Amino acid sequence: MTTNCESCGMPLLEAADHALGDLANPLCQHCTDEVGQLQPFQERFERMSRWAMRQDGLERPAAEARTRQYMLGMPAWKDHPGLRTGDPYPYLRLRLDRCREVWLLAKAPFQVDLPDSPVDMFVLLTNTHDGSGAVTACATPVRVVCMNTLRAALGRAQATYKIRHTSGAQAKLAEAQRVLA
Ligand SMILES: [Zn+2]
Repeated sequence: MTTNCESCGMPLLEAADHALGDLANPLCQHCTDEVGQLQPFQERFERMSRWAMRQDGLERPAAEARTRQYMLGMPAWKDHPGLRTGDPYPYLRLRLDRCREVWLLAKAPFQVDLPDSPVDMFVLLTNTHDGSGAVTACATPVRVVCMNTLRAALGRAQATYKIRHTSGAQAKLAEAQRVLA
């Protein structure tokens, strides 16, 4: 019977694939430290994100989003607090809605002071796959969770930055991300 590493999903075909060559260890050699224990979450998250960037040519936010999604399906990580919304990682959400609109939301490193209480701000990037719309980057107080909140967020956006779809759009998007971060 083939088992898979409970951390990364790699098939464990023979003893050498298991941590320390121990058939009883449900983890692979790549996901464990020198005594066969699961690596810290941050280290594994970083390594898997880098792998996704290398393997599939993804930008870091997309690679982290994919890694988060993947790890949520792994027995070793599915309940880890680092995978929950509001975790220490800046990229909260990358979502496809009806394969047309994509957005990326990051918590901004600042709040806006209102008389009663400070309001969290988010940095939002949106894109459309059909090439009809520009890439938009903005700061907004609305936390996007669906298409309705996406519209609301864009409606209340401050400091909007639009990038038209051209061959250089990817580079400009990266630039906008740096500026807004
Ligand atoms: Zn593994």
